[in-house]
Amino acid sequence: MSEKKPSRPPMDHDEFRKIGKETVDYIADYLETVQTRPVYPGVQPGYLRGLIPAEAPQDPETWEDVFADVERVIMPGVTHWHSPDFHAYFAPGNSYPSQLGDMLCNALGCVGFSWAASPACTELETVVLDWLGKMLQLPEHLLAGTAGAGGGVIQGTASEAILVALLSARTRIIRREQEADPESSDHDVMKKLVAYTSDQAHSCVDKAAMIAAVKLRKLPTDSDFALRGTTLSAAMDEDRANGLIPFFCCATLGTTPSCAFDKLLEIGPLCCEENMWLHIDAAYAGSAFICPEYRPLLDGVEFADSFNLNPHKWLRVNFDCSTMWVRNRADVVDAFNVDPLYLRHDNQGLVTDYRHWQIPLGRRFRSLKLWFVLRMFGVKGLQQYIRKHVTLAKVFETLVLSDGRFEVSAKVVMGLVCFRLKGPNSLSEKLLQKINETRRIFMVPAKLRDTYVIRFAICAATTESSDIVHAWNIIREQADEVLTGVQNGV
Ligand code: PLP
Repeated sequence: MSEKKPSRPPMDHDEFRKIGKETVDYIADYLETVQTRPVYPGVQPGYLRGLIPAEAPQDPETWEDVFADVERVIMPGVTHWHSPDFHAYFAPGNSYPSQLGDMLCNALGCVGFSWAASPACTELETVVLDWLGKMLQLPEHLLAGTAGAGGGVIQGTASEAILVALLSARTRIIRREQEADPESSDHDVMKKLVAYTSDQAHSCVDKAAMIAAVKLRKLPTDSDFALRGTTLSAAMDEDRANGLIPFFCCATLGTTPSCAFDKLLEIGPLCCEENMWLHIDAAYAGSAFICPEYRPLLDGVEFADSFNLNPHKWLRVNFDCSTMWVRNRADVVDAFNVDPLYLRHDNQGLVTDYRHWQIPLGRRFRSLKLWFVLRMFGVKGLQQYIRKHVTLAKVFETLVLSDGRFEVSAKVVMGLVCFRLKGPNSLSEKLLQKINETRRIFMVPAKLRDTYVIRFAICAATTESSDIVHAWNIIREQADEVLTGVQNGV
């Protein structure tokens, strides 16, 4: 540790000006050279505890000491999500306009739970969600800037958006059932409720159902891993015959295991006829609907009560930013409205108070980063980025198909390719383990029914076709070793 005593307060305005600029340089250097670092860290669990003291310092430390620990303590344990060698999960959003938006958000430090808590925070969010909604050609009733009752909100994650949708649907159905039978308690209704999603839906739907304490049926999908209307309809008939109340369906556009698309045009009308809340989770793939060629995949959104996508995945916005639109904001507000005196303000009832649209009270000024991104890339820039990722996925698919030892396990529609070695699952399991052990590229697996597949996602904004070829060469080298090992009985 250096002997230099820090000034007090720890950082004054002038120091911040200087150090802040240096930190921006560090960030730009990091992102510019991220590919020189192994994409996956080589540390063991618990590595960090031994690198820093067991207790916080009594006396202030200098910035130099603190910052030196970023490379010494933090970087060895960082998985580099924005490296072109990162092919796990789904694309993570990142861009400098977005990072600047977050910096400004932090500097303003508003906690915009109500309109009065910071009017710009609420109003920008509403307008920018209308912008994005129009880019997606959402139906008018999901937008705020119309005579309609709908509108958009930014949640932290898709998990929160789905939970908010499910809890809103639960409140709506309880109210309806109690109108028909005023004697029935919340519990009487809740124990009969049943929600639906597909067996490919993200685990956050299971979690939402656990929190909401309602039954969830995960319905089987067709050969393309899509939920069909006939399957949903049969499940609902069966449940009604057993005295249950179907009340919620979460359809997925772009499932996590294979980026499959549920059949919205079959599911949507059914949900409408049956008065069931339809939520559409398009956490990853939703961003692609800003391209006219992918927009048909969203046909049927007009039947939805709510819809979410994550700009923090595929729209150059840094985590966290999950945009959600609802048909009838009153459904959400009814489920979450608590109104203590200290949160009230003069314009209450005339303006949007986003605290009633979400689980927490506090909320960040997230629309700033989305606004910066939409303005500085423009619709065209964002379309170009989506198209580039899809093209790169096709490049990878072609490479896989050119090698007879491999197979592609699901349709490649967006920036994800599921592939495997032909033969038993154990081969692909071994292959992925060996690839990730190299720490040169990083991928995660999925199960498509009983089939183990390796997911190759195009993730970083800077990924080029040379990175795809580089990854493919590593995959082939490791496959050679796995298959030679098998031949030699290893
Ligand atoms: N839904 C889908 C289809 C996903 O792929 C994911 C994450 O990858 C989620 C939901 C959960 O996203 P979040 O981390 O924003 O809750």
